[in-house]
Amino acid sequence: MQRFLQSLVWFRRDLRSFDHAALHRALAESGSVHCAFIFDKKILDPLARRDRRVEFLLGSIAELDEELRKAGGALIVRHGVAEDEIPALAAELGVDAVFANRDYEPAAVARDGTVARRLHAAGRAWVCLKDQVIFDTDEVLSQSGKPFAVFTPYKNAWLKKLHANEESALAPFPVEPLASRLAPPAGRAALPALSGLGFEQAGLLDTGIRPGMTGGQAAFDDFVERMPDYGRMRDFPAFKGPSYLSVHLRFGTVSIRGLVRRALETMRAGAGGDGAATWLSELVWREFYFMILHHHPHVVTRAFKPEYDAVRWESGEHADRLFQAWCEGRTGYPLVDAAMLQLNRTGYMHNRLRMVSASFLVKDLGIDWRRGERYFADKLNDYDLAANNGGWQWAASTGCDAQPWFRIFNPVTQSERFDPEGRFIKRYLPVLAGLPAKAIHAPWQAAPAELAQAGVRLGDNYPLPVVRHDEARKRTLERYAVVRKAKPGASGENG
Ligand code: FAD
Repeated sequence: MQRFLQSLVWFRRDLRSFDHAALHRALAESGSVHCAFIFDKKILDPLARRDRRVEFLLGSIAELDEELRKAGGALIVRHGVAEDEIPALAAELGVDAVFANRDYEPAAVARDGTVARRLHAAGRAWVCLKDQVIFDTDEVLSQSGKPFAVFTPYKNAWLKKLHANEESALAPFPVEPLASRLAPPAGRAALPALSGLGFEQAGLLDTGIRPGMTGGQAAFDDFVERMPDYGRMRDFPAFKGPSYLSVHLRFGTVSIRGLVRRALETMRAGAGGDGAATWLSELVWREFYFMILHHHPHVVTRAFKPEYDAVRWESGEHADRLFQAWCEGRTGYPLVDAAMLQLNRTGYMHNRLRMVSASFLVKDLGIDWRRGERYFADKLNDYDLAANNGGWQWAASTGCDAQPWFRIFNPVTQSERFDPEGRFIKRYLPVLAGLPAKAIHAPWQAAPAELAQAGVRLGDNYPLPVVRHDEARKRTLERYAVVRKAKPGASGENG
C-alpha cells in the first residue's frame, strides 16, 4: 500500500541492498525512494586517524552505491552530524518519511530520538524497524513477562519462539522486485576519500578482510563448509574454527536472517548438526547482549550487578605501566601477548583469547575492566558496544550470567589447553619459535639451556612475566571480598 509519495532510507549498520527491512518497507510504501549514508562526525571525530573500520565503511559504501545504481538508484553520501544532516536532507529532497533500521546503543537511540523529533516537527514521518536481530527488546521474555538475565533460559525461549514462528521470523525482506521505485541518481557525486574524511590508510586489506556484501558473502561461503566442525574447532586460535563474520554482522553486510536460515538447514541435514547448533547459540549470545543493553543501559558505565561497583581496582603509575604492557603484548605471558598482537595488527581477536586476555587484565593485573573495554573498542574491527561490554563484564564477573568472581583463568593452563603446540603463539611471537611446545607457554620456567638454544633472552628479547599468577590470584580473591557474600549465579562460557 502506498502511504508516501517520496521517502528516504537512512543506512547505518545495515550496509547491504538485499534482505533489508527498511529499504523493503520504504519501497513497498512509497512512490519513490532515496537512499543515504552519513559519515557521522560525532562517531568519526573521536577515532584515531588510522582506523581499519573507516576503510571497511568506505569499501562497503562504495559497493552499496554501485549495487543501488545497478538497480536504478544511488546512495547519497554526506559527512556531518547525522542529527542535522538527515532532517536537512529530508527537507532538501521533500520526502514524506524517513526509514531506518533499529539500533540498540544508547547514543544511537538518543540520536534517533532527536532525528525523529525534528522530522515530526517538519511534518515528516519516522519509521524505525527491526532488522539486525531475529528477536529484539521485548520479544523474548520470561514466563512472568520479565527480561531474562541468564543466557541459557533466554536461549531456550529464543529457540522456542523461533521454531514456533520460523517462517515469519526468517522471511527475507526483498528489494529487487520493488527496485523500480528507487529514485534515479541526480548525477554522479564522488564518494568521499579516506583523506577527505580526515583519515590515513590503516591497512585493512593487508589483514585479508574484504569489506562489503561481497566480502560478507565470501566469508560466509568459506565458513559454511566448516560449520559442521565449529563446535570442535572454535576454541583453538591456531586453526580456522570460527566464522570471522563479526565485522560483517557489525556493519550489516550480511543478513542475520540468511545466516540463521543456513544454520538451521545444516542442523537439520544430520551430520554436523551439533556444530551448526553451537554456532547458532553464538548468534543468540549476540541478541542476548543487545537485549541486556536495551533493558539495562547502566551497563555502559557501571557493573550490571551494582554490588560489584564496590570493587577497588589498581591505579597509579605502576598500574598504568602494567596496562601499557598488556596493550602492547609485553606481559611475559605468551598467549596473552600473542592475543594482543593479533588485535593490534589485524583488528580481530579470537573469542577464546578475548576471554583469556580480558581475564588477565582484570584478574591478574587488577585493572578496571572499563579500561580494557575501551582499548578493545578502539581496536576491534567488529567493535560492538553490547557484545564488548557483555564480554568484559563476563570476564570481570560484574555482568549478568558472568563467570563467578572466584573463577580465575590460569593463562598458562589456558595456553597449554587451547594452543598446545604453541602454533598461534609462534605466529605472533616468532622470537619464541625455537622453544619446544612444553616450554612455550611459560618461558620463565624453561631450562636455561633450552632458552639459550632457542635464542630467547628473558628480560631482553622477550619480557619476564609482569606478575606471578599465583600471587595475583590471591590478590584478586581479596579484591573481590567486597562481593563475597553475593550469590554466584549459574554460568556458562561466554560464547
Ligand atoms: P563466531 O564464533 O563465528 O560467532 C558468530 C557470531 O556470533 C559472531 O560474529 C558474533 O556476532 C556472535 N558472537 C559470538 N560470540 C559472541 C559473544 N560472546 N557475545 C556476543 N556475540 C557473539 N563480539 C563482537 O561482535 N564485538 C565485540 O566488540 C566483542 N567484544 C568482545 C569482548 C570480550 C572481552 C569477549 C570475551 C567477547 C567479545 N565479543 C565481541 C564476542 C566474540 O568474541 C566475537 O563475536 C567473536 O570472537 C567474533 O568472531 P567470529 O565472527 O569469528 O565469531
